[in-house]
Amino acid sequence: MKSAMREIAGCGASPAPRVTQKRRPLAREEYVEGILRGDRTVLARAVTLIESAREVDRALAEQIVEDCLPHSGNSIRVGITGVPGAGKSSLIEALGRYLIAEQQQKVAVLAIDPSSQISGGSILGDKTRMTTLAASEMAFVRPSPSRGMSGGVAQRTREAMLLCEAAGYRNILVETIGVGQSETAVHEMVDFFLLITLAGAGDELQGIKRGVMELADLVAVNKADGANVTAAERAREEAQSALHFFPAAGSGWTPHAVTCSALTGEGIRELWECVLEYTALTRANGWFGNARREQQRRWMHEMIDQALRKRFDAHPAVRSGVAALERDVAEGRTTSFRAARMLLDAYTRGS
Ligand code: GDP
Repeated sequence: MKSAMREIAGCGASPAPRVTQKRRPLAREEYVEGILRGDRTVLARAVTLIESAREVDRALAEQIVEDCLPHSGNSIRVGITGVPGAGKSSLIEALGRYLIAEQQQKVAVLAIDPSSQISGGSILGDKTRMTTLAASEMAFVRPSPSRGMSGGVAQRTREAMLLCEAAGYRNILVETIGVGQSETAVHEMVDFFLLITLAGAGDELQGIKRGVMELADLVAVNKADGANVTAAERAREEAQSALHFFPAAGSGWTPHAVTCSALTGEGIRELWECVLEYTALTRANGWFGNARREQQRRWMHEMIDQALRKRFDAHPAVRSGVAALERDVAEGRTTSFRAARMLLDAYTRGS
């Protein structure tokens, strides 16, 4: 039942059928043509392939990503983080509606939930999110990858992002869900990083403590509405002065703090104008392109690390020896260094 619910939630914006039915498999070219035409159903199916743990799906997904790569990159990638309850999904919904209605631009929303890797799907990821936005033809809303997915949550989201770009989405919003340490992973894949905070929660500075504020290009104090307006303004001032403690970024941009309300829509336009200002500035001074190239370089190394680890774990000599060596290390019969060296030697001898 749980996974069936997720299946439905997983269809989100995509007009994929709600009941499980056997669908005709698509060929690589059909996927690519469909994505380039902006077909949301095909895009959703391609993202499902990306998330699949089956080797055959992965191989096809990699080919599709490769074919779409020349058509990707033409977007603004915005990462959005904040504690659960800060209003991330409400704000994304408001921002998405603003971009569609007032800027006539398509929006893709992707999510990262590292806890899904451990629990097989987070509770938060299960809730139906952003329903109004998801109903729009101009939006593609994809909840966090969950079921049966193995390894590389960030990599899967990056690949999904590239496909969305090839499908003509000029605005990509990547949300962090759950309480995992996903902020750095998201920061590594976006152009602009938005931290959503709350006033009056007694922990306005929690972003600083966890090192998240340091990553932020903009801090938005949400829920600045009703009786909360004054407190929100005070929290904004505090965040603003906290931001001064961080060294200036090489981007030439000075991070600052704003207030907004996802509920009333107040401040949403101004928030997006900050994003546009940032991209105009960093495109002009070269930071934008350089940062993306640097990200790609790091992605390459991350993928090598993952692939090597996978090969190492699958190696027969490692598989047969690892359990005994783990016991030896745990019981003090050998050191972790020596055990690691033995396994690595066995791996290199046999590969
Ligand atoms: P998330 O967990 O960070 O995604 O937070 P949600 O978007 O689910 O919002 C948590 C709660 O705060 C929900 O009950 C929202 O209705 C409420 N909320 C979100 N944004 C606002 C806002 O701007 N003003 C007010 N008053 N409530 C909000």
